[in-house]
Amino acid sequence: MGAVPVYRWRLAPDGLATRRQLRAAGLRPGGQDVVAQLERPRRRRGPLVAFLYRIDLALPVRPMTTARRAALAAANQARRTCPTCGRDAGYVIPTRLGECTPCAFPNSEQCAA
Ligand SMILES: [Zn+2]
Repeated sequence: MGAVPVYRWRLAPDGLATRRQLRAAGLRPGGQDVVAQLERPRRRRGPLVAFLYRIDLALPVRPMTTARRAALAAANQARRTCPTCGRDAGYVIPTRLGECTPCAFPNSEQCAA
């Protein structure tokens, strides 16, 4: 990273925002380089530094893609599937039991409502 202008905290020029500020606006830096940084002096420690990005180059936060959605669903499905009976328990298998409750407690009566 080359030398970028440094601004005092709260004196950032218009059109620049920190990653956090972009995020609050539903934006992300989008691969652009840091254009400036803010420094807030701290007592007895190095200054607190925040990197600034150009708002006009920021991109919307990437929406969840179909593939990511499917991967998440598969992961959740796996966590709900009992390794003993192979059935979808309908809930996440408790790691303490390692299997669904009918498998963990085969002798307990199911309380059918
Ligand atoms: Zn089971």
